[in-house]
Amino acid sequence: IKAEYIEAEKLRVVSQLAASVSHEVRNPLTVTRGFIQLLDDPNLDQKKKVEFLHLSLQELDRAQEIITQYLTLAKPINRDHDALLHLPEEIDYITRVMNPFALLHDVEIMTEVHAECQIVGDQQKLRQCLMNLVKNAIEAMENGGKVTLTAGYHEEQVVISIRDTGVGMSKEQISLLGGAYQSTKDTGTGLGLMVVFNSIRAMGGKIEVESSEGVGTVFSLTFPKITEANHENYNKSRIV
Ligand code: ADP
Ligand code: MG
Repeated sequence: IKAEYIEAEKLRVVSQLAASVSHEVRNPLTVTRGFIQLLDDPNLDQKKKVEFLHLSLQELDRAQEIITQYLTLAKPINRDHDALLHLPEEIDYITRVMNPFALLHDVEIMTEVHAECQIVGDQQKLRQCLMNLVKNAIEAMENGGKVTLTAGYHEEQVVISIRDTGVGMSKEQISLLGGAYQSTKDTGTGLGLMVVFNSIRAMGGKIEVESSEGVGTVFSLTFPKITEANHENYNKSRIV
């Protein structure tokens, strides 16, 4: 392939991405602007005021999330960011970060993690993936429930799973996962899983989904087990 062609292709992807981001971010901004305008009314009662403020914040959060997710998609895969990731630490971090959101939804986060479990990958990306999956799990349980995070060895591989007791998905829904803009939520972006599929594959991982409508869903991420040789390499590079 000619260099010119590659440049043209890059430009095409970048401008497409820019167009999507501006389109997606404009909606929540327009909605927020509308609410702020309504707040200007001196006769507005206190209850409405609180509601509009709440909705404005929610829309601003959505704008922020869209930008974060798009930036992740746009970042090239850079194996220089690879490090030895200790899954007990990573899962503990996710639990702490997601707990406030879980409590708000009456959801309990449980963990079952093998103490020695580790993989090689990009820490920021793994964290973002796990956060996206835990967020979806929590959002799937309208009346509260339980999210179980596990990490352990299975048949010479490392498996991380995120299980919920939520609404579940149909076969058709599952087959569409990971494509752009597949959201069933009023304020969804459909970008979360796209990021998860991209990042996990980039780390050499595999994603499996098991779901049953009205029962719940399990997302399993499978990674190659670290060999002695690259284990030593990563131990060294971590010291730097
Ligand atoms: P968003 O959360 O913004 O809708 P995602 O890409 O994170 O976008 O998810 C896409 C869709 O996949 C969701 O709208 C939902 O319909 C479905 N989904 C994802 N995770 C789950 C889950 N744990 N339980 C049920 N449905 C899910
Ligand atoms: Mg999501």
